[in-house]
Amino acid sequence: MSDVLSQLLEALGPDVVSTGDAIPARYRHDWSGLAPVLPLALLRPRNTEEVSKALAICNATGTPVTPQGGLTGISGGAHPDAAAVSLSLDRMNRIEGVDPEMATLTVEAGVILQAAQAAAAEAGLMLGYDLGARGSCTVGGTIATNAGGNQVIRYGMAREHILGLEVVLADGTVVNAMNRMIKNNAGLDTKQLFIGSEGLLGVVTRAVLRLQPRPPFTATAFCGCPDLPAGLRLLTAARKALGPALTSFEVMWPSFYHFMSDGTHQRRILAEEHGIYVIVEASAFTETAAREMLETCLGAAMEEGDVADAVLAASGKDERALWAVRESVAEYPNLMGPINAFDIGIPLERMAEAVAALESGLKAKFPDAITLSYGHIGDSNLHLVVNVPSAGRQQPDKEIKGFVYGMTRDLAGTISAEHGLGLIKRAYLGYSRSPEEIALMHQVKAALDPNNILNPTKAFA
Ligand SMILES: Cc1cc2nc3c(=O)[nH]c(=O)nc-3n(C[C@H](O)[C@H](O)[C@H](O)COP(=O)(O)OP(=O)(O)OC[C@H]3O[C@@H](n4cnc5c(N)ncnc54)[C@H](O)[C@@H]3O)c2cc1C
Repeated sequence: MSDVLSQLLEALGPDVVSTGDAIPARYRHDWSGLAPVLPLALLRPRNTEEVSKALAICNATGTPVTPQGGLTGISGGAHPDAAAVSLSLDRMNRIEGVDPEMATLTVEAGVILQAAQAAAAEAGLMLGYDLGARGSCTVGGTIATNAGGNQVIRYGMAREHILGLEVVLADGTVVNAMNRMIKNNAGLDTKQLFIGSEGLLGVVTRAVLRLQPRPPFTATAFCGCPDLPAGLRLLTAARKALGPALTSFEVMWPSFYHFMSDGTHQRRILAEEHGIYVIVEASAFTETAAREMLETCLGAAMEEGDVADAVLAASGKDERALWAVRESVAEYPNLMGPINAFDIGIPLERMAEAVAALESGLKAKFPDAITLSYGHIGDSNLHLVVNVPSAGRQQPDKEIKGFVYGMTRDLAGTISAEHGLGLIKRAYLGYSRSPEEIALMHQVKAALDPNNILNPTKAFA
C-alpha cells in the first residue's frame, strides 16, 4: 500500500477511506459523460476536522485531490482521476438551522440543494436559486460552480446567496469566513475567491446562505413568437411591465422544443408551430398583481405582433405542464446517447445570428447532426446540445467543440455561462478570458495551493 493511503487510513480509518472494488460505481463518474474512472481512493469525511486531516496528508505527500459534491456537474470538474483521491462531501449533510430574523440558513456543504430549499420553505422563507439537478446537487457543488438556473434573471446566481463560508485550504488550514451579515466591508471578502473556483482553491465545508421572502403567487405563460428579435422585444417589455416580478424568461428554439416534446411523448402546448417558444414567469405577493401584470404585458406584445399565441397557466398543475418539456433535459442520455452539451453566453444582439450559424454550420459538417438550442436567454445564456447519430459512441467531440467555441469567441461570448470549465472546457479558456486574467488566476492558484493538489488538471489549474 502506498505511503499516502496508509497515512490516510491511519488518520481517518476504513469507514472514511475506501479503495478498489469497495468504491461504489456511482463515485466513479459525474454527469459529464466521461468514461468511469477508479480513483486512487475515495474519502468520505464526516466533519471539517477530517477534511482538514485528509488535505494536510495529501498536501504533504503531493497527492492530487478531486473534491466531489453530488456529481451532477456537466464539465467534468468532479470526475475522478486515477492518480487522485476523490474527496466526497456527501456525508457532511447537516442542516444547522434557519435564523428567521437574520434570514439566513446555515448548512454543511454536502446538503442537497432541495433539502436546503425545503428547510428555508419550512421557515416561511426561500433560497433564491434553483436548478434542474436540485434533487442531487449539493450546496457545496453549487457554490464551487457558482450555479445558475431558471431564476437568475430575478435573483442572480449562487454567489448572490452566499453570506459566509467555511473553507479548508489545500494544506489543511480551516478558514472560518462564516459571516452572517449582508453588509461587511472589513477588508477583502475572501469567500468570493472560492465561489465559482471549481474546487481549485479550497474545499467548502459549511455555508451561510441568504434567504428571502417567497412571493406566494406565480403566473406563468407559454408563448409562441415569430422569431428571436420578437422574443427579445417581449423580454424588454416584460422587464418594463413586471419589474422585479419577472422571475424567468426561458427560450426554446423549435429544434429543442419539437425534438424533446416528441421524444418524451408530451403534448405540444400550442396548436401551431412558431419561430421560438418562450416561458415567461412572474411572481408577486398578491395573486392579481402577478396575473394581471403578465396578462397586460402579453396583450400589448400580441398587439405589436411580437407574440403570436400564448397560454396562461390556470393552476399549479398547468404551470408544471408548461415547464415540463423545458425541464426534461435529464432525458438526453435516453434520447440521444453521447452528446456534446454547451452552456455558452452570447451578447443578446448577436444571439439570433449565433443560433442560426451554429445549427446550420454543424449540419453542414455533419449532415445528420441533431442540434437542440434553448436557454436562459434573459441571462444571455444559450444551451446547445449536439449529437451526430451516425458517429455512434465515437462523437467527433474535438471538431464540434472547436467549431462552437470558435464561433463563441468570434461573437465575443463566453464558453461557459454557468457550468464552469472542468476538464471539458479548460483548453478553451483563452477564448473567453484575456492573457492577463488567466495569469492572475494562476497567481491566485499558486498562492492558495502552492503544491497544486486541488483539481490540478481541471479548469484554470
Ligand atoms: C439535470 C441537470 C440540470 C442542471 N441544471 C443546471 C442549471 O440550470 N444551472 C447550472 O448552473 N448548472 C446546472 N447543472 C449542472 C450542475 O448541477 C451544477 O454544476 C451543480 O452546481 C453541481 O453541483 P454538485 O454538488 O453536483 O457538484 P459536483 O458535480 O460534484 O462538482 C462540481 C464542481 O465543484 C467542485 N466541488 C464540489 N463540491 C465542492 C466543495 N464542497 N468544495 C469545493 N469544490 C467542490 C468539484 O470539484 C467540481 O469541480 C445541471 C445538471 C444536471 C444534471
